[in-house]
Amino acid sequence: MDVADTVLTTRRSTRQIHVGPVAVGGGAPITVQSMTTTKTADVEGTLTQIYDLAAAGADLVRCTCNEGPAAEGLAQIVPRSPVPIIADIHFHVEMALAALDAGVQGLRLNPGNLRKEHEIKLVAQEAKDRSVPIRIGVNAGSLHPDIYERFGGATPEALVESARLELAYFADVGFDDVKISVKASSVPLMIAAYRLASATFEHPLHLGVTEAGPPPAGLLKGTAGIATLLAEGIGDTIRYSLTADPVEEARAGRQLLEALGLRERKDLDLIACPSCGRAEVDVIAVATAAQAALEGRGLPIQVAVMGCVVNGPGEARHADLGIAAGKKKGHLFIKGKIVRVVPEDQMVAALVEEAERLVADGIEARLAAADESAEAEAAADRAELLDEKGLDANHSSTRIAKIRSRLEG
Ligand code: SF4
Repeated sequence: MDVADTVLTTRRSTRQIHVGPVAVGGGAPITVQSMTTTKTADVEGTLTQIYDLAAAGADLVRCTCNEGPAAEGLAQIVPRSPVPIIADIHFHVEMALAALDAGVQGLRLNPGNLRKEHEIKLVAQEAKDRSVPIRIGVNAGSLHPDIYERFGGATPEALVESARLELAYFADVGFDDVKISVKASSVPLMIAAYRLASATFEHPLHLGVTEAGPPPAGLLKGTAGIATLLAEGIGDTIRYSLTADPVEEARAGRQLLEALGLRERKDLDLIACPSCGRAEVDVIAVATAAQAALEGRGLPIQVAVMGCVVNGPGEARHADLGIAAGKKKGHLFIKGKIVRVVPEDQMVAALVEEAERLVADGIEARLAAADESAEAEAAADRAELLDEKGLDANHSSTRIAKIRSRLEG
């Protein structure tokens, strides 16, 4: 069995909730979330973004519900959305109630901003009556002032205490259909808070590094926090918070889960060598062109772009499909076996064509259809390149003889 199939399969057990038809926690596949940046009152604009987010990998989408027109917009968005909609609520209880009236499948409440006990209980009661789950969304930057003071700052214990108090209010009205987040913009604080939350609650956890900023730093911070916790078996649903088009958030979330083997691949996995002095082609340009040409076609395969035929096909033999640059040619290979040699300017087009056929016909059929002269042509190219560049640029045999004579003498 592949190590990727086993290494991250031990997850902390949590109870399961449902956001519309999407299960969260309790062993359900880890879900990807993102949030729209449009005005929620702009129904068509918001729906367009929701469809883009769903296509990029979002399983759940959150929209702000900050004013009456936003709630009215939600009433029209919910029935036309391809994924369940969660309303984001901060200061106003009436917005939470209006969002429930709009038919949203989930609420997010920030306990630091919606503070009155009777209002929190009212929302919980109404959510309970409609079987709508709530995320208790604690944020280090907007912690309740009393808790901040009691703990001397936004500590992991303070974040978890905020969630615990909110849960206690919910429990008073018999509501427990909850997931929890304890986000911070500091990665170490976020990791410590989630570890504590995981040890404290049995509810599913929504992971995120908040206000991570623009890519690439924002992506790195999000990945550092989320992946660390996922590797420990913590987390049931995730969101990257990037200062970027939210499609980037959804794509990153999906790609992270696929890279960790926590979700089945549904699109391209492009790998490429970092290039070096042996490269026979501009690897960055070819890899970028291949990514642009192949991504989004729903081809769930691994494709390799390698800069030279000397090492490329061997190093990427695990890839389903790949191309390695030779002398003004590209060696197309499937599972390390050369199946075709094409002119350099047709490398990307050949990759796309073969990728489509590979997905349609399967690996065995495409290996059987290999060009019979390809292996011999590739071997000749490889030999010529080795002659030119030298297999032993370090003059190893001379050096080894010198080392031996020193050690033995
Ligand atoms: S595949 Fe070839 S070009 Fe790419 S890093 Fe390896 S040796 Fe260098």
